[in-house]
Amino acid sequence: MPGFNGKAVKSSREKCQRFLQGLRFFSLAGISKFLFLKVRGKSILRTGSCRGCGACCRSICLEGASGWLRSQEAFLKIVVKYPEYKRFEIIGKDQQGLLFFSCNWCTPQGTCLDYDHRLPLCRNFPESSLVFSGGSLPDNCGYSFVEVVPFAKILRREIQQKR
Ligand code: SF4
Ligand code: SF4
Repeated sequence: MPGFNGKAVKSSREKCQRFLQGLRFFSLAGISKFLFLKVRGKSILRTGSCRGCGACCRSICLEGASGWLRSQEAFLKIVVKYPEYKRFEIIGKDQQGLLFFSCNWCTPQGTCLDYDHRLPLCRNFPESSLVFSGGSLPDNCGYSFVEVVPFAKILRREIQQKR
């Protein structure tokens, strides 16, 4: 049936496109880490909690639609579209060529000037994608990443064993 096949092809093509687009956020080391985890059936879990040191606000990489920001030009385009990103200023580049930013809302004490209205990226930091992008947590961050077997996988295994 053409309709069904067309949809299936489109859906797998979309999946493939999404996968390839996702790769733009990976570093080479990150891809091997991802594959190594996949082979062992593991994933990354974030543990710990924020100590409020503010280190991540003073040195953070930002993502655009096509990957991590590497140029001032790409950053300025983001600011035009999302003026709330004006709070960030470029402070340098890492070895992979990714820009580092500092946030002007971060006080000398490491607190946020408007914590209730911080950006989603601030609320979600640190995401496990950091591991695959070749980034690392700031020194003394209260969070850490551990390799775990996903709960859904353990559950599936238990159910299969009981059958
Ligand atoms: S570096 Fe870690 S502990 Fe410090 S403010 Fe950021 S998330 Fe919290
Ligand atoms: S908005 Fe607040 S939480 Fe987000 S980076 Fe700036 S100071 Fe940190």
